[in-house]
Amino acid sequence: MKIIASNFKTNHTRASTKDFVAQVKQFVVQKDIQTPIYIFPPATALDSFELPKNVTLGVQNAYPTKNGSFTGEIGTEQLDEFGIKTVLIGHSERRHVLGESQKISIEKFNFYKELGYNIIYCIGEKLEVKEQGVDKTLEYCFGQLDGIDISYENLIIAYEPVWAIGTGVVATTEDISTIHNALKQKIDSPILYGGSVKPSNLAEILKIESVDGSLIGTSSWEIESFQQMIEITSKA
Ligand code: PEP
Repeated sequence: MKIIASNFKTNHTRASTKDFVAQVKQFVVQKDIQTPIYIFPPATALDSFELPKNVTLGVQNAYPTKNGSFTGEIGTEQLDEFGIKTVLIGHSERRHVLGESQKISIEKFNFYKELGYNIIYCIGEKLEVKEQGVDKTLEYCFGQLDGIDISYENLIIAYEPVWAIGTGVVATTEDISTIHNALKQKIDSPILYGGSVKPSNLAEILKIESVDGSLIGTSSWEIESFQQMIEITSKA
């Protein structure tokens, strides 16, 4: 079964998230969809939603701590309040916009792995790396897995080329299958593709055998579009 995940980034409010989640729930129940669905709202919109078994709420980021003095961050004390056990780590915006190092990604990974969390760990190259060819791209992506236990049972990898995120530029199916096939040689975990996925290109991307699903930003924020992509994923 292929997987679908929505990353809200800094979009949606508490009220609109509640509405979005309710509409996902209604759609999934009505169409009897079993596809694993992950939703990552902003931290202010976390809540104890009653969800079908296959729908999971996660956080876009969390600090490797229970609590403490880490201004602007949240830890497991805040996550436990809502029963959240799923975390995104290493998203390209955390790495390249917010300056997060591989070291902190590893610390987060190890901390949340120890607690048994589902981890969606993101990797992906910038344009200047892609332009140096496939070998360099793979070297860069495997470098982002340095220090990460890729045999962790609750791990999902998301391959998201930075040049394709939020830009409208989608990697070609050849680009995607080349990288996913190479990653699959070493990784048993599911591998999602992310980068300007939308209802019009999702079916084609999911046809690639080494793509186990998608992590979607922009085109997942509108409920109709996300529902369409849930349905496409359920049929893939
Ligand atoms: C993302 O944020 O993980 C992402 C893939 O964004 P977009 O779909 O907007 O490219």
